[in-house]
Amino acid sequence: MAIVRYQSQTGPAYGLVENHIVYALEGDVFGPFHTGLKIGALEDVKLLAPVTPGKIVALGRNYAEHAREHGADVPTQPLLFLKAPSAVIGPDEPIVLTPLSQRVEHECELVLVIGKRARNVPEEKAWEYVLGVTCGNDVTARDLQKSDGQWARAKSFDTFCPLGPWIVTHLRPKEICDLGIACRVNGATRQKASTREMLFPPAQLIAYITAAMTLLPGDIIMTGTPAGVGPLQAGDVVEVEVEGIGVLRNPVIAP
Ligand code: ZN
Repeated sequence: MAIVRYQSQTGPAYGLVENHIVYALEGDVFGPFHTGLKIGALEDVKLLAPVTPGKIVALGRNYAEHAREHGADVPTQPLLFLKAPSAVIGPDEPIVLTPLSQRVEHECELVLVIGKRARNVPEEKAWEYVLGVTCGNDVTARDLQKSDGQWARAKSFDTFCPLGPWIVTHLRPKEICDLGIACRVNGATRQKASTREMLFPPAQLIAYITAAMTLLPGDIIMTGTPAGVGPLQAGDVVEVEVEGIGVLRNPVIAP
């Protein structure tokens, strides 16, 4: 089963997908819920970003190979940054390039969706706070990331945070820590790795982050990208695939 957000006649709504059919989610996506009325076939429903995060906590250089490709040191503790929630878009929505950057790059990432208020969570209890996982693309204006000296602007242009297509809730922690992750541009593989290559795995990240800040339901953690990041051009179609979750596909368009 997977949780989706979709465009209903009255606005965005949460739903549940089973066997390619979307059903209404009755109750609270962050509390008790159950399967409601049938909405329609998955291909006939307009999916939205599966969550609207209050904050996006992201990880720099959480895969050693990616740190090396930028000539950066492999961090000895998690390297956190924040990405603006206003950058979030859903599956199939366009990533809009910006005239302010000459080099906008893809970054495929496993995304953790927080399910309940989390503060000072010990590593061994971290998974109790995770609603599920989805795919994310941490789109980055690489030239501005370097020239700005810090990352807020480069990571936060509108449309630079595709999420989806849904939140998978049934994967066990052990499975999530050993999933294939890949990025394709126009069908050609650019990034390919496993989540087991993370320097700091999810439970450790949750403990580290919640020692500093409270995570609220709907907040997300973007767990970092493996090696192989590269530029996007107008007309490209970029896909992020995480094994056991699905494919997040977005076209890229000129500003
Ligand atoms: Zn990233």
